[in-house]
Amino acid sequence: METELIFLKDCYTKELTGEVIEVNLEEKWIILNKTIFYAESGGQPSDKGIIEFNGKKSKIKEVRKQNGRILHFIEGEIPEKGSEVKEILDWNLRYNYMKMHSAQHLLSALILDKYNASTVGNQIGKEKSRMDFHPLRSNEQMLKEMQDKFNEIIEQEIPITISFKERKTVLDEVDEKRRVLFSRLPEAIKEIRVIDIQGIDKCPCGGTHVKNTKEIGKIKILGRQNKGKQRDRISFELE
Ligand SMILES: [Zn+2]
Repeated sequence: METELIFLKDCYTKELTGEVIEVNLEEKWIILNKTIFYAESGGQPSDKGIIEFNGKKSKIKEVRKQNGRILHFIEGEIPEKGSEVKEILDWNLRYNYMKMHSAQHLLSALILDKYNASTVGNQIGKEKSRMDFHPLRSNEQMLKEMQDKFNEIIEQEIPITISFKERKTVLDEVDEKRRVLFSRLPEAIKEIRVIDIQGIDKCPCGGTHVKNTKEIGKIKILGRQNKGKQRDRISFELE
């Protein structure tokens, strides 16, 4: 049985009742029938939180995806298979990651459209995040312009939506620059999860996002680093 990933459709669920469907006492993990906890993937770190069961409380310290299964690593007592557990997300941490992840998409889009540089790497953090672009050789003036443009869009409160679309539909919808992101996905994926910053960007992604640009908050670009071979690393924080 596969774990239902609640955040794929709703990133704002903070609590949920689930059932333990598998337990590993040695490695101290459990699998749940449905989960609100995000497993580290695509530059977004794992969620943390707690579970409550039979009047007890244990910590979820890490969530990892392994062979398509979602393992919740527990600190404290481990519930038995079949137990009902209340899942409680560390919302502050997750909300930070949501803002950072949406910010990453927006900055990717701005740099793709203006400088034709693709995002080739990214690491989202609690306080700051970084992204690698190629081919790009930025300078202070460019970064300042990007920051201003970004913060203008933040003020406009543009909706960010999640939808599931057929491969063909998305490929028809997106522009040439973005088509490559979608066509790169394995053919086996018939339905693609699309993060849409209305009128600005469409991107295939499995991460968690805020629902409009205002929620992201203003960006402060901290600096750039040349990583060689026309690769630029840009780091940023949010207000
Ligand atoms: Zn993403």
